[in-house]
Amino acid sequence: MKKPELLAPAGDPERCRTAILYGADAVYLGGRRFSLRSRASNFTLQDIREACAFAREHSAAIHVTINVIPHEQDFEGLEDYLKELRDAGVRAVIVASPAIMALAKKTVPELEVHCSTQLSITNAAAADFLQKRAGIDRVVLARECSLDDVRRITASCSVDTEAFIHGGMCVNWSGRCTLSNRMTLRDANRGGCAQSCRWRYHLYRGEEDTGMMTMGSKDLCAVHEIAALMEAGVSSFKIEGRMKTEYYVASIVSAYRHLIDEIAEKGRLSEERMRWHTEQIMKGENREVCSGFYRGTAGRDSLILRRDQDDRLNHRYLGKVESVRSGRAVLVTRNPFSIGDRAEVMSPGMPVHSFIIEEMKDEEGNYLERSRTPMRRIEIPVPFEVQPGDMMRRE
Ligand code: SF4
Repeated sequence: MKKPELLAPAGDPERCRTAILYGADAVYLGGRRFSLRSRASNFTLQDIREACAFAREHSAAIHVTINVIPHEQDFEGLEDYLKELRDAGVRAVIVASPAIMALAKKTVPELEVHCSTQLSITNAAAADFLQKRAGIDRVVLARECSLDDVRRITASCSVDTEAFIHGGMCVNWSGRCTLSNRMTLRDANRGGCAQSCRWRYHLYRGEEDTGMMTMGSKDLCAVHEIAALMEAGVSSFKIEGRMKTEYYVASIVSAYRHLIDEIAEKGRLSEERMRWHTEQIMKGENREVCSGFYRGTAGRDSLILRRDQDDRLNHRYLGKVESVRSGRAVLVTRNPFSIGDRAEVMSPGMPVHSFIIEEMKDEEGNYLERSRTPMRRIEIPVPFEVQPGDMMRRE
């Protein structure tokens, strides 16, 4: 069984380091220009250089998205930008436009060019065409592919395939949606999607208002398809979410890292182990999930029709360890917790350990029963070794 690369998103340098420390083989990120997700806190060239150096130290790689659908004026400075990415040590650029593919191949042949999911590749002939005619090194398959599509494309083409395993889905075809453009004048294909599908709308049947609804899709969670995707020979598993938090990146990357490693070692896992891995993944998630298109067309079950189904606040994240002094961790808090709560510690590359919080003190040395306020420093004794940077969450 081929062990694929685990490819994680990063919206800023801190999340990039976190993704690598928690087990990503590669991280994709966007620069300040030429990238979708322009609202994500994108990387300067210096940030990209530093991310590449950090990745190299940890045997990981950096991929940079240049996935806008460019209009004539959008090419200015692109050639120089590609050269700067090459010099920074970037491994691959993720590209949606044939014009940028051609420019990248001509200007920086040392860089791999990956065809973005924005091109909606759902069949082997299209993947083959892109490899032979455009010299593409990898095809990021459309999220709308079924498991069977992925198997066939991967088996019949020599080009590497990359498949999404977790994260947000578009209710329209990814990259072929103009809801945001029409409603907010923010171009979804030039980095501006306002996620208009997730707003609340009045739904009328005749003249009767049947209540508020959204068109938003549940997030993809392919935990039960991972073994099949590995057997199919997919080269890279991609997690969506450059806008997501550091806690999300750490917990989702870490959970899939453990799952992929265990399947690579033992083959298909028992139901009990799969339940455990699913629980770990869901500890980082704050939306409902579905298996996307992997089991066929995503139907009504894959939609979040009512707003109250959506965006459940994830209160699990208690905070990040800032420092450790003689068995006592200083936690920068996020969500409330109390004496008697059971907390788990996530540490890069380590299994999760848990303990009961038996004591806590604020910065003035006052003993507390409950921590209520975010971004405070709370000292907690922890009965095992913890490191600065570790994250605590409710069990
Ligand atoms: S509005 Fe929704 S479906 Fe359209 S591009 Fe944005 S997230 Fe995707």
